[in-house]
Amino acid sequence: MGCGACVPACPEKRIRMVDVGDDGLRPRLDAAGCGACDECVKGCPGVGVDRGMMPEQESATPELMEGWGPILELWEGFAADPDVRFQGSSGGMATVLAAYCMEKGGMAGALHVGADAEVAWRNTTRFSRSTAELIERTGSRYAPASPCDGLAQIESADGECVFIGKGCDVAGARKAASRRPEPARKVGAAIGIFCAGTPSTKATLDLLTRLGVDREGVDGIRYRGKGWPGYFTVTMRDGRPPKSIPYMEAWGFLQQYRPFRCYLCPDATAELADISCGDPWYREKKEDEQGFSLVLVRTERGRKIVRGAMEAGYVVLERREPGVLVASQRGMLDKRGTIWGRVLAMKMFGIPTPRYEGFHLYENWKRLPAGEKVRSMVGTVRRIVTRGYYKPGSASVE
Ligand SMILES: Cc1cc2nc3c(=O)[nH]c(=O)nc-3n(C[C@H](O)[C@H](O)[C@H](O)COP(=O)(O)OP(=O)(O)OC[C@H]3O[C@@H](n4cnc5c(N)ncnc54)[C@H](O)[C@@H]3O)c2cc1C
Repeated sequence: MGCGACVPACPEKRIRMVDVGDDGLRPRLDAAGCGACDECVKGCPGVGVDRGMMPEQESATPELMEGWGPILELWEGFAADPDVRFQGSSGGMATVLAAYCMEKGGMAGALHVGADAEVAWRNTTRFSRSTAELIERTGSRYAPASPCDGLAQIESADGECVFIGKGCDVAGARKAASRRPEPARKVGAAIGIFCAGTPSTKATLDLLTRLGVDREGVDGIRYRGKGWPGYFTVTMRDGRPPKSIPYMEAWGFLQQYRPFRCYLCPDATAELADISCGDPWYREKKEDEQGFSLVLVRTERGRKIVRGAMEAGYVVLERREPGVLVASQRGMLDKRGTIWGRVLAMKMFGIPTPRYEGFHLYENWKRLPAGEKVRSMVGTVRRIVTRGYYKPGSASVE
């Protein structure tokens, strides 16, 4: 999946993440001298995720459980600091909650991702120790990112830390916590961001070409933010004017490059997080509006953080009814419905499949209209055949 959890899991430090143009970041094992302890596989959320790993999660909204996982409270709002709100992707919620955990909760830092300093279309894992560093790294980056490859920084930190990532990343951090004592002790808060799939690096490069941007001269790329939902903006090194297009237009292009693995992921809303943040797409979108975030409280720890951040004036939030989540992210529910059938199609070809426990995949599949059931299975079979996934070893990337 590209979360990077296998990197710190390997006791021999033989795994690194490699960007495979059409897919995303994928692990590479230097097999020479590999002791075959299987820690990388055992800690991999791509192999499977069992919701039972988070027994402390309960649901106060049973009607949302099958489609969205446990939710104690649903809120909508934004960071009280107008700069964080403006810089953030949605309402700057992931950033401001992490800042609250560090400034008021005494957490040592936050592990997350930011733009690579050298190559603007790549992401690097960062450990932010201050609010200024957090703010520098706001904004969703619609390109491969593997925050779990930096879990060692949480393991060696002075106390609890925040972890920010997509559903796959949060699952990677939780699996690490279930296998090693230090992540278990030190992941003090897991903040998830909604994700409908991560476009490959090729997506960004092709978009630059489409916009007529000279790749060599690119200084920075913002995928969105600075307004809601904001603009995809490319800044240039030599003072040439920035190029920008509305976020919706950029996403329409980038989303076509989501790899097959993302179509097998049921966890678009980071169900293993303490708090998940996403967009309230039910609202009418005006590119320059100030941002808003949907906030799903998933654990008691998450509830304490959100309440504390409200009382301390870090966030402005209002309670929302469950229907707001469905109205905002209908596509995620439809996608979740397809997964049971996709996995079945893979099994028919004898292809290894991810094992998801507790995500109610069959119940979601049953609700899917017949036409969608057929379309998703036929699409999966087509991919298997055209890409040769049925051949043993074909899934390993070069
Ligand atoms: C690949 C991708 C797909 C998305 N799909 C959806 C969607 O379907 N529906 C929806 O509502 N929202 C989606 N989002 C957007 C995101 O979930 C929301 O914008 C969320 O509300 C976060 O906004 P914020 O203002 O709270 O975050 P901010 O305060 O701006 O902070 C964003 C945080 O996310 C981290 N981050 C940025 N890019 C990545 C990445 N690629 N991987 C891991 N961490 C990252 C940053 O390090 C930062 O800490 C997607 C984002 C990404 C990166």
